Amino acid sequence: MAVHGGELRLQTRGDGEIVDLTEGVARVAAAGDIDRGIVCVSAVGSTVAVTTMEYEAGGIQDLTEVLERLVPREGAYAHNRLNHDTNAHAHIRAALIGPSITVPLVSGRLVLGTWQQIVLVDFDDRPRQRTVTVQIVG
Ligand code: ZN
Repeated sequence: MAVHGGELRLQTRGDGEIVDLTEGVARVAAAGDIDRGIVCVSAVGSTVAVTTMEYEAGGIQDLTEVLERLVPREGAYAHNRLNHDTNAHAHIRAALIGPSITVPLVSGRLVLGTWQQIVLVDFDDRPRQRTVTVQIVG
């Protein structure tokens, strides 16, 4: 079994900014010289999520609006009340989408659809420095 890992570091604006990670993940995967395996992409933090989507303006707007309807920024959240915090919505959105995804690696390439990108969504209500861990096991 071979294991190869790398990290992506990025600065986000927060507030639901969606960042395309696909190229960065593919770069880490290519450096590993692993032909077949799985790639785990995991973001560090409880207000950030990783998923896949079609990364284009309409898809970005739709996901942003649906999440605002599902988990509004304003609300009587216990997390905010008990901790004098302001980002309960960010924790809940991140928990719903999840902190990581796993993508198959075949012939050294990520198995993704043509219109499927790996994205990070930063839900926190302020700009953040983020670290994404990429682990390949083959
Ligand atoms: Zn918080």
